[in-house]
Amino acid sequence: MTTVNAPGVPAIEDGELTSTNPATGELAGRFPIADPDDVARMVGRARLAAKWWAGLGFAGRRTRLLRWRSLLANRITELAALSHLETGKPIADAVVEAVSAIDHLDWAARNAKRVLGPRRVRGRLVIAEFSAHLEYQPYGVVAMIAPWNYPVLTPVGAFGYALAAGNAVILKPSEYTPAVGQWLVDTFAEVVPEHPVLQAVHGLGDVGATLCRSGVDKVAFTGSTATAKKVMATCAETLTPVVLEAGGKDAMIVDSDADLDSAAEACVWGALTNAGQTCIGIERAYVVEPVYDAFVAKVVAKASRLTVGAEDTDLGPITMPGQIEVIRRHIDDAIARGGRAVLGGPDAVQPPYVRPTILVDVPEDAAAVREETFGPTLTIARVADADEAVTRTNAVSYGLGASVFGRRRAVEIAGRIRSGMAAVNSSLTFVGMSTLPFGGIGDSGFGRIHGADGLREFGRSKAVTRRR
Ligand code: NAD
Repeated sequence: MTTVNAPGVPAIEDGELTSTNPATGELAGRFPIADPDDVARMVGRARLAAKWWAGLGFAGRRTRLLRWRSLLANRITELAALSHLETGKPIADAVVEAVSAIDHLDWAARNAKRVLGPRRVRGRLVIAEFSAHLEYQPYGVVAMIAPWNYPVLTPVGAFGYALAAGNAVILKPSEYTPAVGQWLVDTFAEVVPEHPVLQAVHGLGDVGATLCRSGVDKVAFTGSTATAKKVMATCAETLTPVVLEAGGKDAMIVDSDADLDSAAEACVWGALTNAGQTCIGIERAYVVEPVYDAFVAKVVAKASRLTVGAEDTDLGPITMPGQIEVIRRHIDDAIARGGRAVLGGPDAVQPPYVRPTILVDVPEDAAAVREETFGPTLTIARVADADEAVTRTNAVSYGLGASVFGRRRAVEIAGRIRSGMAAVNSSLTFVGMSTLPFGGIGDSGFGRIHGADGLREFGRSKAVTRRR
C-alpha cells in the first residue's frame, strides 16, 4: 500500500514507515515495518539477551546503564534536535525532556539493587518461626509500547527501570516518532554491543498488537485510554501482565489564600507546555470566587505573551495532525454551549498550529471539560469553595495528576483528589522526580513507573521460606 501523506502523518510505502516534521514535512526517518515473523525473531533474540543481561547482576547492569546515561548526556543536543525534527516541539523543551529521562535512568541504575535485591525477612506461621528471603526477579522480555508526545522521557522512564531490573526490552515507538526510538536503541547498542538487550520494532498499532501477542513476559504501555483498553484485551488472551499509563484530564484548584502570581505562572506552564500535548497537562482550573477574576486576568496576560511557530518559539505545532480536529471540536462545542474564549478561540486553530485558548463559563458536560483535549486549551471555572472544586475535579473518568494552589488547606485538598499524583503549589513536578511513583487511576490506567514502585513493576517478587 502506498499513501502520500500530509506533513507529520506517518507514511507507509513499500513496507516502510516514514516520519516527517509536522510543520515542514521534512523527512525525519524511514524504517522497515515489522511483520509477525520479524516480531517473533526479535522476541527470540531478546530472550537470549535477557539471560545474559540478567546474569550480569545489578552491578554489571548499573555500570552499563550509567555508561549509556553518560552517552545520552554527551549527545543531548543531537537527541533534542532529532526529537524537535520529529515532533516539532521547541528544542529547549526537547532538552529538558531528555535531561529528565537521563535523571530517571541514573536513579533506576543506582537504586535497582537496593529496591529489588534479595533481603532477609522474618516469617511467622502461628506455630513456628521461619527465616525467609525476598527478591525481585526479572520478568524476562518486556515490551514497551510508547506514544509520541514525550518520545524520550516516556519510554526511557519506563524501560530504563525495566532494564535496571534485569529485563531485555523491545520498544515499539509511536509511528510518529520512530527515529527517536531507533536512536535510543542504536546508542544503547554502542555501550552494550554484546547482545540485543534493547531492540525497536516499527509500525502502526497492529505491530503493537502483534508484540502483545508475541509471548513477551510483560507489556508496559503508555498512550491513549482507548488504546490502553485494546492492549489490555489483547494481553488478556495470554494473561500477559500489563502496566497501563493512559490519558488524563488534570485539574488545578486555586484556593482563596493562594499566591496568585505563582498559581497563574504554573497554570500557564502546566496547560501550555509542549503545546498542551502532555498527559499530565492542566486542562481545567477550578478557582474559588474571591480570586477568580484576578486569576483569569493573570493567566490570560501570561498566556498571551507566548509565541507559536516552528523555530525559537514557546509552542510548536500539533505533532499529530489528526488531533487538531479534536481540539477544534472541543473549542467549538464549548462555545456552542455558552462558553466564552477569553484568549484564542476557534480562530486560534490554524493547522499545524493552535494558539493558546482559554475558555470560561463552559458547562461541565462539555467535551472540553470531560474529555482529554491534548492541545493548548484550558477551561477555567468559578467555584464557591474548595469543596466544590474537589467535587468537580473528581467528576471525570480520568485520574492522572492534579495541582492545588493555596496555603492553609492545600495539602488536605490534594489528598481528596481522585488521582495518582498531586502537586501543591507547583504543577507537573511529580513527573520529574525519579524517587516518586508515576501513574494514574480510573481511565488514566494502573500500575506505576518511576521510583521504587517503577522498579518493582518490572520484577516478580519471589519469597523463599526456610523453617528454623
Ligand atoms: P496511542 O494510544 O494512539 O498510541 C500509543 C502507542 O500504541 C503507539 O505506539 C501506537 O502505535 C500503539 N498502538 C496503537 N494501537 C495499538 C494496539 N491495538 N495494540 C498495541 N499497540 C497499539 O497514543 P498516542 O496518540 O501515541 O499518545 C497520546 C496519548 O498518550 C494521550 O492520551 C496521552 O495522555 C497519553 N500519554 C499518557 C502518559 C502517561 O504516562 N499516562 C504519558 C504520555 C502520553
